[in-house]
Amino acid sequence: LMQLSVPLNFIGFVYREIRQGLTDIEQMFELLDVEPEVTDKPGARPLQVRQGAIRFEDVHFSYDPARPILKGISFEVPAGRTVAIVGPSGAGKSTISRLLYRFYDIKSGAVTIDGQDVRDVTQKSLRAAIGMVPQDTVLFNDTIAYNVRYGRIDATDQEVDKAADLAQIGEFIRALPEGFDSMVGERGLKLSGGEKQRVAIARTILKAPPILILDEATSALDTATEQEIQAALDFVSKGRTTLVIAHRLSTVVSADEIIVLKDGVIAERGRHAELLAQNGLYAAMWDRQREATAAEEQLKRMREED
Ligand code: ADP
Ligand code: MG
Repeated sequence: LMQLSVPLNFIGFVYREIRQGLTDIEQMFELLDVEPEVTDKPGARPLQVRQGAIRFEDVHFSYDPARPILKGISFEVPAGRTVAIVGPSGAGKSTISRLLYRFYDIKSGAVTIDGQDVRDVTQKSLRAAIGMVPQDTVLFNDTIAYNVRYGRIDATDQEVDKAADLAQIGEFIRALPEGFDSMVGERGLKLSGGEKQRVAIARTILKAPPILILDEATSALDTATEQEIQAALDFVSKGRTTLVIAHRLSTVVSADEIIVLKDGVIAERGRHAELLAQNGLYAAMWDRQREATAAEEQLKRMREED
């Protein structure tokens, strides 16, 4: 019996390690339906984050060699600043976030954090330094508490509570019959896209990484939810180097730089007012979004009058 209990404990230990260390990555690959293709270099060192400055230098990338996706992208996110990437669907925005996380290796150029190429550091240390709030959060088939605490396994109940509040989801959770012990995921409570995203934000608040990637949720959010999520995102990105793939105007307006991506190249870049003055692609996108928002509000008023 003694002999048996050791390996069983060991298996339990390994299982927990795997579950805690890899599930994010595995889930991401499941979502993307791809195989992990990157490995640590022999003798790779841990990333040393000093300030958390991000640099893309003339980055070329393609998933399929026949079809280039990024064709010479250069930009910088200075430490503690926010850079927004906007542009039409399929432009390569989410690809940029995947390259920073090193889900794939680039064809040429460099992606660095505080001067260290992401290919030279351990993946574990790279991913520990980055908090990713994806467009579509997949929750674990476990309790809400587990899903939030996943950001930092040793967080106390009070810290989990506080993170949920800061992510604007605490009240919602406490109103559930089983509160933080409610099961979510495929076999549990079905949360809306906005609710899941706020759980992911709470998790990221607990993780408190120096670098953040936010892939904002698009449509399907009503204005009130959108404002709540925005407040949560503002809180989590304060003082952190933030790369935001922005669909919402509010984020873009205050970004330190806006990069307009189109067909794998940077079509325009600058601050909000500068880009409006250029009267190009960004200005057109801005006008279209404003019209869409106005139409949505008018529709809502009409419904309320019924
Ligand atoms: P965006 O986020 O700007 O909408 P993406 O970065 O997700 O765009 O995708 C850019 C292009 O790369 C799209 O044409 C998309 O179809 C393609 N793409 C994305 N992921 C993969 C993949 N895993 N394999 C092949 N092509 C992909
Ligand atoms: Mg995308």
